Amino acid sequence: MAMKRDGLERRQQTTVSPGTGTPYPAPGATSPTADTLPKAWVDKYNQVKAAGLIPNIPVATPNAAGLVDYPAGTPRGQTGTCEWGTEKCLNNDIAAAPDGMVALGVDDGPTPNGTIPYLQILNDEKISVTHFLIGSAIYWNMDVMKQLVNSQQKQHLGVHTWSHTLQATKTDMEVLGDLGWTMQIIYDVSGYIPMYLRPPEGVIDNRVRAIARNVFGLQNVMWDRDADDWCLRQDTGTANVSGCPQSAPNLDFVRNAEVGWATKTSNNSGWVSLNHETTNQGAQAFQAMVQAIKKNGWNFVGYVSALQGLPAYNNAYNLTDSPTKQDNILPTHTFINVTDPTAAPGSANAPKLGDWSKTASKSGASVGAQTTGSNASGSSSSTSSGSSSSGSNSSDAMAVVASTGLAALCATIAGLAFFAA
Ligand SMILES: [Zn+2]
Repeated sequence: MAMKRDGLERRQQTTVSPGTGTPYPAPGATSPTADTLPKAWVDKYNQVKAAGLIPNIPVATPNAAGLVDYPAGTPRGQTGTCEWGTEKCLNNDIAAAPDGMVALGVDDGPTPNGTIPYLQILNDEKISVTHFLIGSAIYWNMDVMKQLVNSQQKQHLGVHTWSHTLQATKTDMEVLGDLGWTMQIIYDVSGYIPMYLRPPEGVIDNRVRAIARNVFGLQNVMWDRDADDWCLRQDTGTANVSGCPQSAPNLDFVRNAEVGWATKTSNNSGWVSLNHETTNQGAQAFQAMVQAIKKNGWNFVGYVSALQGLPAYNNAYNLTDSPTKQDNILPTHTFINVTDPTAAPGSANAPKLGDWSKTASKSGASVGAQTTGSNASGSSSSTSSGSSSSGSNSSDAMAVVASTGLAALCATIAGLAFFAA
């Protein structure tokens, strides 16, 4: 254990964020600490806090169920904690889709076992989905991350925190580090600044939401379809993860469940999935689902921002727009409030695009129009560091070990919960 930690510390000293000039925080299951935070993020946080935009909800404690508890007397519900994991409380989250529309959210990448077969499928099927990425996994698997960023079929990159920990149990500064550093490493590798967050295990409350929105411009994304595909093991269809729900035993079960989502029902409600790019077994189920969605005539927009015609990134409207280069990852547009995720694009309840509307029209943005008029955008400047060498791929063996460790950690945490993200 000590040797491993020493190794990580050495790597950290030599791996600097090209966007900030400072070392990335140590990868692993610990939230980045306050001393790692660039001044611009903390200044923005202080400004937002002073404006009263971050509620004084106490830091929660993890419980035996893998979820969280608050001190007695803490107000719950919509105007209190509104914590999704324990209350299933939503507050302007993207947790559903307009009628007939489908988007897929794929969590826990990048990983060698999962991301590579997923990319093969996504390229073959010409589908772009949202990948909610773990910052530490990017650090460890930089070569895989670069394949994801440079894939033939452009993929949508979102945030799944640096440490894959329960964000409601973290201090404001830790949340700042978990979200900010994941955004930063994605920006450093791809040039794109994420606009969408999915919280590990679905544990998020109004305090964490407020930091995500008001400091970083991040939209929170949940899901309404989950087949426990994280239970599957690499190379075998048998689930063998401690704590996996009894209802999710093997590949057949997961594949049948996911294909079942794609079966048209009488009301044709749209949906947003929870998948995991962690094993080739999960990829097999995913492929069958993608083919069923296409066969059954859904409006298969693929990635979450396309459900309502929203910007894909904080610095690019469409997936194929050249990203605007910025000095830091802080948002330069006003936050778009999503009050009704089932509102059809263009309908009365659809989100108001605010100061993005001009960019949207210049980009020719429309739902799912990921390949049209992409570079006509007036907002583009030079692409940032798309091939930067911020990676730490000097030790493949180390990356494999580290990746395995994180996957085991995720599985352990996830195993305690009723569901996993
Ligand atoms: Zn996860």
